[in-house]
Amino acid sequence: MVRILQSAGLDRTGTARPLDGRVAIVTGSTSGIGLAIANTLAEQGALIVINGLGDEAEIERLCRELSDRHQTPVRYDDADLSQAGAVMDLVDRSARAFGPVEILVNNAGIQYVSPIEEFPPEKWDAILAINLSAVFHATRCVLPDMRRRGWGRIINVASAHGLIGSPFKSAYVAAKHGVIGLTKVTALEMAEAGITCNAVCPGYVWTPLVEHQVRAQAVAHGISEDEVVRKVLLAEQPNKRFATAEEIAGTVAFLCSPAAASITGASISVDGGWTAH
Ligand code: NAD
Repeated sequence: MVRILQSAGLDRTGTARPLDGRVAIVTGSTSGIGLAIANTLAEQGALIVINGLGDEAEIERLCRELSDRHQTPVRYDDADLSQAGAVMDLVDRSARAFGPVEILVNNAGIQYVSPIEEFPPEKWDAILAINLSAVFHATRCVLPDMRRRGWGRIINVASAHGLIGSPFKSAYVAAKHGVIGLTKVTALEMAEAGITCNAVCPGYVWTPLVEHQVRAQAVAHGISEDEVVRKVLLAEQPNKRFATAEEIAGTVAFLCSPAAASITGASISVDGGWTAH
C-alpha cells in the first residue's frame, strides 16, 4: 500500500502532493536548517537524499523516521563536501539510487570567527571548500540531467552575511558573497533551460552552528550566552527574534513551487529586516 501511494505521489489520505516523485538532495541536512528543509520537501512528496556529518546510526534512524512520517523514500549519503570528488560522487550515487536529481539544496555550511590577522589559513580553506566550492561542484554535476528534463530547482542557502559584511567572519562572509554571485551566474546561464537558481539568506536561526558561535562569543567577551543573544545577535534583527528553521524551509519549498517559476537569480532575505537597514 505504501509503495502504491508513493509511486502515485499521494499522501496517507490519498491527496496529491506538490513535489510528488521529485528527487531532491539537501546537503548538510543532518541537523538545523537542512533537516527542516528535508522534512518540508519530504512532506511535499520529494524523494530525499540526506547528507551531512554525525552519528551514522542516529542519522539512519532519522531517515527512517522521515520516510515513515511522510511515506516517501529517504536515503543517507555521508559524502564529505570538503572534497570535490565526494561532492560529484554524492550526485552520482543519488541519481543511481533515485533517478535524475531535480532539486538541489546547497545548504551545508560551517563557520569560524576570528580577526583576519589571526585567521588560520586552514580554516579559511575549509570554509571556502564547504560553503562555496561544494556549491559549484554540486551545481555543475546536477545541471546536465536538469537540462535534459527541462526542469530543475537549485536553492543555495547563503546568509545575511552574503549581503553585508561582519567583522571577524572573513571566510564566511567571503564564501556567502561568493554563493550569491554563483547563484546569479547559474540563473543567467540556465534561464532558458527551465532551471531556476536562487539564494535564500537567513538572518539568525537557533541551530548548532549559532549555538557554537554564541558560546565562543560569550567566552571571548566575558559575558553570558544570554547577553550575547540579546546584545549581539538580536540587536541586529529589527523583529527581535530568531527565524525558525521551518520558516527557511518554507521559503525553499516556495521556490520549488509553480508560483516561483519566474523567480531566478534572486537573493531572498529571511532575516527579520536585518539587511533592510
Ligand atoms: P548546522 O551546523 O546545524 O548544520 C550544518 C550542516 O552541514 C550539518 O548537517 C553538518 O553535518 C553539515 N556539514 C558540515 N560540514 C560538512 C561536510 N564537510 N560535509 C558534509 N556536510 C557537512 O548549521 P545551520 O545553522 O543549520 O546551517 C545551515 C546553513 O544555513 C549553512 O550554510 C549556514 O551558513 C546557513 N545559515 C545559518 C544561519 C543560522 O543562523 N543558523 C544563518 C544564516 C545562514
